[in-house]
Amino acid sequence: MFMNSKTDITNLVDKVVRFVLVNTSHPGNIGASARAIKTMGFNRMDLISPKDFPHETAIYRSKAASDILEKAQIHKKLYDAIEDCQFVVGTSARKRKVPWPLVGPREAAEEIINLSLSGTKNIAIVFGREDHGLNNEEMGLCNLHVAIPTSEKYSSLNLSQAVQILAYEIRTQALFKSNKTFKQEWDVPLADSEEVERLINHFDEIMQDVDFYDQENPRKLLTRVRRFFKRSKMDHMEANIFRGLFSSIQKKIKK
Ligand code: SAH
Repeated sequence: MFMNSKTDITNLVDKVVRFVLVNTSHPGNIGASARAIKTMGFNRMDLISPKDFPHETAIYRSKAASDILEKAQIHKKLYDAIEDCQFVVGTSARKRKVPWPLVGPREAAEEIINLSLSGTKNIAIVFGREDHGLNNEEMGLCNLHVAIPTSEKYSSLNLSQAVQILAYEIRTQALFKSNKTFKQEWDVPLADSEEVERLINHFDEIMQDVDFYDQENPRKLLTRVRRFFKRSKMDHMEANIFRGLFSSIQKKIKK
């Protein structure tokens, strides 16, 4: 399903990037964030004074990502989790009075991948409290403010969904840079023009056999039928199936 490539950047960024959750109140959000992190190929989560952790709800919501919870590093202050980081991204829906350099998740992901590729060892992505996000002092520890472009009427996502979006964007960038984006595979070669022409003619014969249209004045019918077949990207086997079906219909009609 994926193109092979020697450089797999997803493994590299997994070693570089950590997801830092500040003062999370609901253990369910910690579990769901662990799941979001693991499904996107990451495994490091740091928790800053979580209100209720460890907790069975966190384990339950993490599904098969409880290993991320088990190895989560817990700190008292945000600074303790980012001290060794060369690049720190703070996520927040809110604009700040003194604006911080602001980008969307895609641009942030690009920067994170570029930094990882050029040898940056530790990068943190910081998420705030469910009730009031990151304070200005915490944002002041970040190099970049990332805002997910939500509706202006309601901009605040659930914490774990914000984690999912950032993790997804970084993974997508990493796959793109590793040349490992999705490639469609097909089991049968596409029909060639000749096969499609034969099929269209055959269909026209049937329409005529059953007096489906006025042959003196077909108007746009034949063009529309042709457009339908041409846009279907049918494969060789599909073309054969329909040709077989049309022959059977004609045999029955002519009996
Ligand atoms: N009421 C809080 C929002 C908390 S949502 C506030 O005013 O900041 C919990 C966390 O999810 C936020 O601190 C942030 O880290 C992340 N988050 C939620 N929505 C986001 C958005 N639109 N852009 C970036 N981060 C977001």
